[in-house]
Amino acid sequence: MSNWIGRKVNGLALLDARLDAHVGSIAKRERALVTNPAKRVVFTVAQTVARTVAATRAHLGASLAQLLTMLALGAFGAFGALSSLSAQASSPRDASKSAATAMTATAAQAATADASTQTAFTLHGEWRQGRLIFGHTNPQARVVFNGRTLTLTPHGDFVLGLDRDAPADAELRVTPPGAAEIVQHYAVAAQQWDVQRIDGLPPAQVNPPPETAARIAREQTLLAAAHASDTPLDDFLQKPQWPARGRVSGIFGSQRILNGTPKAAHYGVDVAVPIGTPVHAALGGVVSLAEPDLYFTGGTLVIDHGHGVSSIMVHLSKLLVKVGDSVKQGEVVAASGMTGRATGPHLHFGVYWFDQHIDPQTLLPPMPSSAAVTTKTIGRR
Ligand SMILES: [Zn+2]
Repeated sequence: MSNWIGRKVNGLALLDARLDAHVGSIAKRERALVTNPAKRVVFTVAQTVARTVAATRAHLGASLAQLLTMLALGAFGAFGALSSLSAQASSPRDASKSAATAMTATAAQAATADASTQTAFTLHGEWRQGRLIFGHTNPQARVVFNGRTLTLTPHGDFVLGLDRDAPADAELRVTPPGAAEIVQHYAVAAQQWDVQRIDGLPPAQVNPPPETAARIAREQTLLAAAHASDTPLDDFLQKPQWPARGRVSGIFGSQRILNGTPKAAHYGVDVAVPIGTPVHAALGGVVSLAEPDLYFTGGTLVIDHGHGVSSIMVHLSKLLVKVGDSVKQGEVVAASGMTGRATGPHLHFGVYWFDQHIDPQTLLPPMPSSAAVTTKTIGRR
């Protein structure tokens, strides 16, 4: 028996040396592969091996039995590590398109977590500012994200959002029925946002006149209430479509500097379309706000897609739906315009998870290149 153990230990030492060489070669290839999306899968497999090796090393002092158990767990966790690293390794725009990206809660804990943790929940998305992350777990589980208890669909789907300015740490607590609570912390990657300077604006547009303060405050309360809605609609699970097609003239997250004064960031994507262009619902849902004339946003529509996800369409010339209306994805709900404080005709489209601002372009397909040509418009006001 002792000879058997001796051979096993020798074998492990040999294995360790081989893995060591393997990790060295992985490190060399890492920098090249990380910039090449086509090779990302190779990179993530290599990373997974490296991670398993690291976990093995940490436990080499443990008994042989523990070691073998841990190796088995490491192999199990590798499936999760593979896909989560795929997201980390890719560029922001590429990662947003890899919808199949999946993470398990266990990627970083393959060596210590037990098997029940490995399968407690799955996540799809990237831990980066301005993103939505989709999750799945037992429908009876309790899920708490950054202190907020999330509602689950009957199938156990949930969604969470990372604001444009989300802090670097996010906390997810999942309590499967009859099991202990799992607490996970995730590092939220900071996004580089553009700086957009607009000069020569009328002063009243940069700094609203004092007499409008009460009106603006009232309207912000209305908008906040619409975004706070938490309904069981499951339209948020659909793949969104562009509400209008045209040149993208403004992107999410830009820090606007108006006449030299830094203002609130741009919480949506702008599509340059002529006044009267039909505006489609990006996702199905229920209209939660329909206001023809808000101070900043003019004709404004908010559609609730369920579980805290809502979308907003701004500067509209005409509203074709009212609060409480159910709308289908793709349905024409409004006509675009340049109402409110718009500098030109365009559709501003924003996505929210409660009060968290999400980059719509991380959810939408690329704008078709033929989109610059728009079709007939809906009658002007
Ligand atoms: Zn805009």
